[in-house]
Amino acid sequence: MKTFASLLQFQKHFDTNEKCRAYLEQQRWGNTPACPFCGSTNVCRFKNDSRKFKCREKECRKKFSVTVGTIYENTKIPLTKWFLATYILTNHSKGISSHQLAAWLGITQKSAWFLNHRIREMLTDKSPKLLEGMVEVDESWVGGKFSNIHKSKKKGKNHNDNKTIVFGALQRGGKVVTKIVPDTKAVTLVDAVHSTVKGGSIMVSDENSAYKSLSKTFVHGSVHHGIGEYVNGPIHTNGIEGFWSILKRQINGIHHCVSPKHLQRYCNEAGFRYNLRTNAQDEKFTTSIQNCEGRLKYSVLINKPKRK
Ligand SMILES: [Zn+2]
Repeated sequence: MKTFASLLQFQKHFDTNEKCRAYLEQQRWGNTPACPFCGSTNVCRFKNDSRKFKCREKECRKKFSVTVGTIYENTKIPLTKWFLATYILTNHSKGISSHQLAAWLGITQKSAWFLNHRIREMLTDKSPKLLEGMVEVDESWVGGKFSNIHKSKKKGKNHNDNKTIVFGALQRGGKVVTKIVPDTKAVTLVDAVHSTVKGGSIMVSDENSAYKSLSKTFVHGSVHHGIGEYVNGPIHTNGIEGFWSILKRQINGIHHCVSPKHLQRYCNEAGFRYNLRTNAQDEKFTTSIQNCEGRLKYSVLINKPKRK
């Protein structure tokens, strides 16, 4: 496989939409194109338009191209720009704002914002494996600055009231998984642990009593931050706390303000970069391209009710 060790090499390699399309076909289907409607591989390519295919199954007979059923479906932005944006977003240590992306690609800020969100969909691990071994768990309050709340609404509120709670689990030497949670009640956090960490693992947390009930399923070690205890041999939560600071630097430094409904995607973006931190730049790009199945419509993204 070609490697794209630098941005310059990358741009040279993917300088036409045809090359991008061919690469996408290869990554999505290998040498066996499949109908996105019925899954059949009994398909043929149009002779007069090599971008298009037709399904030969009697009940289907649908026409399609490689972008149908993917994040790129119906896009008006050329694939060369999509590829470049994906390469930058997967490799830049903090991501990139839609303003910056718009300026670089010569598209509107609205298009860049939508493009960024669709690329974040590709950075989402759609079937994450349960973490195992030694796993650090923690919660963090993200986004929504207290100073941004209007004076009239500040009364009786504390600094975390305008923030969204994110649960995180990090396998030592492995991956991080994040989940937006509605609160920090024991039942909520216990659920979050069960859906991310394999039973029998060694689970490390701070003194939050919510995690105590898990000692039947996991070997549980904790540090007591309240009394100044942060490390007790291998028992510490430094890994997940390091991830929180990366996430917050990205959100506060690049995007400034992230609404709760989009926060999970920003967490997934930071998680993708963290989980593939030791991979080469071209591998990060290819991994995201291989995850292009599934659409994200603008109306769904902005939560707009369907027109009747
Ligand atoms: Zn078909």
